[in-house]
Amino acid sequence: ETIQEERVKWLTDTKGIKAVTVLFSDLEGRLHMLDYDKKFLLKSYDNLTFDGSSIRGFTAQRESDLRLALDWAAFYYAPADVFGSGKVLVFGEVIDKNGSHYVGDLRGVLKAFCKEQYEKNGYTLNAANEIEGFLFEGLDAERNFPLTGKFEYTNQGGYYHSLPGDPLREFIDLSAEVQRAMGFENEKDHPEVAPSQFEINYTYGDAVAAADQIQLYKLICRQVANQMGMTASFLPKPVVGVNGSGMHTNVSITNKAGKNLFWDPKGEEKISKMAWTFVDKILTHGNDICLLLNASVNAYRRLDPHFEAPNQIKASATDRGSMVRIPIGNEKSARVEVRSVGPDANPYAVLYTVFKTGLTGNVAKIKNLRQAERYLPDNIYTAIEDFKSAEWTTELLGEDVKARYAELKQASADRCPRLLGTVVKASEVQFH
Ligand code: GLN
Ligand code: MG
Ligand code: MG
Ligand code: MG
Repeated sequence: ETIQEERVKWLTDTKGIKAVTVLFSDLEGRLHMLDYDKKFLLKSYDNLTFDGSSIRGFTAQRESDLRLALDWAAFYYAPADVFGSGKVLVFGEVIDKNGSHYVGDLRGVLKAFCKEQYEKNGYTLNAANEIEGFLFEGLDAERNFPLTGKFEYTNQGGYYHSLPGDPLREFIDLSAEVQRAMGFENEKDHPEVAPSQFEINYTYGDAVAAADQIQLYKLICRQVANQMGMTASFLPKPVVGVNGSGMHTNVSITNKAGKNLFWDPKGEEKISKMAWTFVDKILTHGNDICLLLNASVNAYRRLDPHFEAPNQIKASATDRGSMVRIPIGNEKSARVEVRSVGPDANPYAVLYTVFKTGLTGNVAKIKNLRQAERYLPDNIYTAIEDFKSAEWTTELLGEDVKARYAELKQASADRCPRLLGTVVKASEVQFH
């Protein structure tokens, strides 16, 4: 029995399920949800079409019809108290009119890359993301921001702070509970350094599942916050003068026997030569790929070592100002942590970029590459220039998708007057 047959049978037999929500993401990583009646879906799941022209970064008008195929392995229960009763969630794959994966759907691009690496090298690409965010007072605090000009904290505590009845703690507990109900394995959660800031860590997964779960995580947090009359924000630097929010991306690679290929007890920092080459390739392309990992105007305000966010294209075991850090690990947990990533980036783009660059990128002949004085762009305009002029990004995305992505980012930069001063501007707020 294939996973499709198994899930179709389960859906057919499970009386309580009435609807199926199909999820996919646009080029910038905004999550889109289509609700199908279960009966309709069961009849038509191999012929679902939609108009791609109204999705940011997808097709031009004349070729607007796209298909959605269901990825039956990416199937999640939707707890009724958060999603309404009788629903399940399934991730969709966008298919073009020739029946191939649509190039603008980076989930499909990531999935194809993972498949290729598994078939060619026997590699499974693992990722665990540490996503930080803020809980602000008021429904729709982000949307009201242009009117009020500020975000109101819900909690004044700091790292690991906990008080009974504290709204932030209640929010974290509820979100973690929903995640568990959906099948995520929570490892730990805690209030973060800044007031009203939170972080929930769940267990690592293969790259596609990890990226799906980032999308679900943000959805859950927003939904739970909304029910509390508050707003969960994944803006990288909503409040100037306190820590911003990162999405540290921890990656490792296992072989078919389940052995962690990044571990080497005799290697420098106890990671293998392969892991170090991976790091060198990321560092080599640090500037080229920055726009994919730091994808909004606001993301560049976060990249400041005074607030535990990196600004240097370096690798270090301890220095949190480095783009790449090697955390202490063991045979199971040895990994490489890319710290520069912002939580509002497209997670499929992030994992695809990190893995493809780390595995197939170039190594620059820079003296002492891992410790050289090289800096990440400190504003989106420079990042757009670096992205556009890099050959590597064409290799990653192809000319067409690269150009569309650059256009979208240029449009968001143009909405913001030059980033002057220390006040976050309403035009920086990007709702995903
Ligand atoms: N908030 C920091 C960042 O922006 C990380 C701080 C931490 O996890 N200790 O990356
Ligand atoms: Mg953490
Ligand atoms: Mg943290
Ligand atoms: Mg970390």
